[in-house]
This record gives sequence, structure tokens and C-alpha cells, in this order.
Amino acid sequence: MQKTDPLPGPRMPNQLFFPILRRSGVFGIVKLAPSLPMSPISQLTVDSSQSTAEPSASDRPSYIVDSDRYSRQILFPGIGAAGQQLLSTSHVAIVGCGATGAATASLLARAGVGTLTLIDRDFVEPSNLQRQVLFDEADARDSLPKAEAARRKIALFNSTITVHPRIADLIPANIDELLAPSGGRPVQLILDATDNFETRYLINDYAIRESIPWIYAAAIGGYAATMNILPAPSEHRTACLACIFPKPPSGPVETCDTSGILSTAVNLAASLQATEALKLLTGQPHLMRRTLLSFDLWNLAGQGNLDRSEIATSTPRPGCTVCGERIFSHLAGEGRPHITLCGRNSVQIHERHRPVDLPAMRERLTQNSDLTDVRSNDLLLRFRTRRGDHTLTLFADGRAVIQGTTDITLARTLYARFIGS
Ligand SMILES: [Zn+2]
Repeated sequence: MQKTDPLPGPRMPNQLFFPILRRSGVFGIVKLAPSLPMSPISQLTVDSSQSTAEPSASDRPSYIVDSDRYSRQILFPGIGAAGQQLLSTSHVAIVGCGATGAATASLLARAGVGTLTLIDRDFVEPSNLQRQVLFDEADARDSLPKAEAARRKIALFNSTITVHPRIADLIPANIDELLAPSGGRPVQLILDATDNFETRYLINDYAIRESIPWIYAAAIGGYAATMNILPAPSEHRTACLACIFPKPPSGPVETCDTSGILSTAVNLAASLQATEALKLLTGQPHLMRRTLLSFDLWNLAGQGNLDRSEIATSTPRPGCTVCGERIFSHLAGEGRPHITLCGRNSVQIHERHRPVDLPAMRERLTQNSDLTDVRSNDLLLRFRTRRGDHTLTLFADGRAVIQGTTDITLARTLYARFIGS
């Protein structure tokens, strides 16, 4: 089934689109926890000495030359040698390095996009391995931060590109820094691979303000959805996220917890997103799709038919507060609650203003008889409570994930007790 609907007018928002949104899982990837006071700044924690350095010439395999590596892609008329050259000088930021982000990063790294910035706040767990294609069992065993695990894996199959891992939660206070130019190359495109709509609205605000294209992508259950957003002054300007969905959904939404997820749906979303990225980066924005496209790959009622729907996004909505009136409320930090992470019984907390000395913290926690399994690596520290069986994972920026509860108050209490206030 296919249908193409006109862009909604300002008076036809939620009733029409939220059923589609909910059905297709457009937004519904996280549960929101009750609001807490604004969190302090999350900062970069990655060790730049090992993670952001471009491979030296001696590191690069002499037996692989780019003309060979990319030969099949160059043969494709849509790319060609000129397109391949453009890819090599491109800089793309991928926000989120879970299922969608890992798949998209893998595709673009193999395609030869010269610089990738990978932003992710999370670490690899066993339940990720079903769908997150850049991670392996050792990454899960070591609880490696996903951005760093992705960098290491990409370096194994394309050591000629530059990958900047950023272990951080993208928030208003750090978005300018995380999406800053690198090596003199500004971010040309932002790819959404997040699991929550707060971050998507934040990306939308930033992209419209800075006139940087971005591509929304989401998957849940057997659904996949994606949309290209080209801001002004592009002659190919489209509607923005807030044109289509002026407000985030209210009430319960589907999450990975409640609906599960098919890896194939994720890979479809990533594949569509990466293809649109290649069009943009090779200077062909006129070829980019101008719809919000969604698929149901496991259509119970479809009797074998793929359920596909499209909503036109060619024209910005008159009166849109973001791309029309340029009011960037999400960049201003309004309405950002603390978040319960997707797929786990856990809470993320920001409480600190300054980086944590992980070795010193480990030393202190090891002395605490209420704790067990205190482990750490260069990037994070993890320990478990003897009573209650809560696991706390502390990052070097002071951010923590408390597993074993969705109770914000309890999570804050545990943080204050063991990590400090
Ligand atoms: Zn708009």
C-alpha cells in the first residue's frame, strides 16, 4: 500500500500524524522519566590522543589503493570518480551509535566519507549484539563506549578515513562543540541515529540555525522511517521536523522495551539514510527524497504486502516556529528531562560539573564494603551494589547510568551516596 499525503496545514497536526507516528515508531524510542532540575554540562571524555588522530601514512596498508578500494562504487554512474573525490573530503556527524548509527557509520565509512564524527553516550551491552553491526562480544564484555568501539572497528576495514569518537550526550550546552569543524572541515550533514525525540528536536533547531542538512531515521518493531531535512537557503529546501510534528508526542509511546526491534528494520532505515547522504555529499541534493517515508516490514494485516507510506515534505509549513520564525527553544534548553534509557531498566544522570578522576574513584569505591565488582577501563568505571543489585556505570565526564531501576529518586540517591554530590 502506498499513499502520498499533502503537507499538513497548521491546523492539522497531531490527530492526523500521531497515529502514523505511533504506528510507525517515528518517535517512540524512549520512555520519559519525570522531570528533574536541569543537568550540568556533559563534556567530551574521549582520550583524544588515541582516538582522534588521523592514521599516519605508515599505518595505511600499501597493498590497498583507493582506486581499487572504491572501484565498484566509482563504476556506479551516480557516484563516479568526481563523486568519490567529494566523499573523501566530506565530514558527516552521526548522532547516536546504536543500531541505526552503527549501520550508517559502517556504510559511510566503507563508502569513503573522509571524516566521521560519532557521538554516543552509551556503552556496548550483550543485548546490543542482535542488531548493532559494529560491535562484538569483546566490546560487550569490556563495556566499551560505543563511539570508541565503532572507531576501532571502522579502523579495521577502512584505515584511510578519520573517525572522531565523542563519548557524550548531545545537549544544548555541548552541541556547538561536538558539531564543530574538524581538520578545517565543517560538518556538512548531521545524521540522526538517536533514540529519543528531545535530541531530534535539538538537532532540528541546530541544523536550521546553522543551515546544515540533516536526515532523520528511526526504527522500532518492524517499522522503519526516515526524512531528509534541507534548511534554507538551499534552493531544495524542505519542511523541517517541527513543520511535520510541531510538538513531541504526548502520552505513552512505543519503545524498544515494549515493542522490541527487528535488526532488518534498523538496517533498512540506515540504508535509506546513508543513500540520501551519498546524494547530498556528491553534490546532488536535487535527487534527495522529499517525503517522510515509513515501512512496515512485518505487516501482519498485509497478506504479504509491504506496508509503505509517504508524507510529502517539499514545502515548509507556514508559521513553523523553528524554520519560519526561527525560535530555537530546544537549543535554549527548554523542556529537557532526565531520560530513562531505551531497552534497559535504567536511568541516566548528570550531576557533576567537572571530570572525574576514574583511577582515584576506583580506589575509593574498592574500599566500600557495600559494593562489589568494581571494574574500570580508560573510559568508564562500573560497580554493583551488594544490596538491591543496582549497577552504576560512571563516565569520565561525571555522567552515570544506573541500571536496575527506573526510579529517578533512587537513582539520584545511589549516585550521591557512592559517587558524590
Ligand atoms: Zn519547520
